[in-house]
Amino acid sequence: MEEKIIYIAGLGLIGGSLALGIKRRHPHYKILGYNRSDKSRIIALERGLVDEATDDFKAFAPLADVIILAVPIKQTITFLKILSEIDLKENVIITDAGSTKLEIVSAAEQYLTGRPVQFVGSHPMAGSHKSGAAAADVHLFENAYYIFTPSKLTGQQTIADLKDLLSGLQARFIEIEAAEHDRVTSQISHFPHILSASLMEQAGDYAAEHEMASRFAAGGFRDMTRIAESEPGMWTSILLTNKAAVLERISDFKQRLDSVAELISQNDENAIWDYFAKARQTRKEMEIHKRGGLESSFDIFVDVPDEEDVILEILELLRGTSLVNVHINEENREDINGILQISFKNANDLEHARQVITSKTAYKVFIE
Ligand code: NAD
Repeated sequence: MEEKIIYIAGLGLIGGSLALGIKRRHPHYKILGYNRSDKSRIIALERGLVDEATDDFKAFAPLADVIILAVPIKQTITFLKILSEIDLKENVIITDAGSTKLEIVSAAEQYLTGRPVQFVGSHPMAGSHKSGAAAADVHLFENAYYIFTPSKLTGQQTIADLKDLLSGLQARFIEIEAAEHDRVTSQISHFPHILSASLMEQAGDYAAEHEMASRFAAGGFRDMTRIAESEPGMWTSILLTNKAAVLERISDFKQRLDSVAELISQNDENAIWDYFAKARQTRKEMEIHKRGGLESSFDIFVDVPDEEDVILEILELLRGTSLVNVHINEENREDINGILQISFKNANDLEHARQVITSKTAYKVFIE
């Protein structure tokens, strides 16, 4: 079988997880890694994520059949420039993992045009609050969208070759133009992070004067602000490399807030009802719970009594599933069905959980 050499620059959460996914399907491929700090380099070697590692970015680049840049967006652009200045293997495939795509694809076209290389942008749409090689997880991208954004340097075979290389991730591959990727993610990912952080900032200021605000914050407030715990550095670079789309979404949203404020001040009961009804219907139609993708999970809610061993009994029934999180909603149940919330990585396990809990216990089960 043909042995390929894969070079992954950046052995953090994303680079390390990609390495594990590649090894899962192609154990005979050689994976070389670059990492700036000793820590993740040592962990990556110890965990077998890579076969060899360096702290000199240029060292392994000429050996590679595929180069994956899994570093912050700005550094990805710097590395593309460096790659344009060194001799690489003829027809090497270069790709990245950055969360915004247009600036990276433009930089690749600017620096690499005329060189005998292939380039396609990549955005593996899964992550977590963890970072570094220690957090690498072979399951990270399962069922998540893995987006390719073609460039002028994408050949007929480039994406097919990468799909084969990355088949062990068990992700859902999809192609979209870089500018459209950035517009769509500004709406469903970047702007919600701004909203969440702003809401958290507002509530924090408010809680300084109204002490009970911290204590009552639960349920819906927790759901709305979970992503405010994201890594600040990554989100700063995302906003600054997708400025136009993000600013446009902010301006659109300000008008929407003004419209709601107007309805409230006019006591327009019907219009306010319509406003909530429309949002509810839109959310149902988008089937947000039913799909994998950006930071999504498949949640089941089980209404359980507050008795000894009940949770253990349910977890025992779910052995061998892709269970990723268990949460006990005990503080405030006004907008949650059931008290035990269990999250899975995929829809099959969610359905399996529903069937097994319903058939083997008397507890009520809800899937939103
Ligand atoms: P991470 O912090 O786990 O790893 C980042 C890696 O980049 C580390 O190896 C670090 O040593 C290296 N690095 C950082 N600054 C560097 C510099 N100036 N020079 C050289 N190396 C440097 O982060 P991650 O989550 O793996 O993110 C990597 C890329 O993946 C980013 O472009 C990010 O936008 C993208 N991404 C992240 C997520 C997520 O949720 N974490 C999801 C999709 C895409």
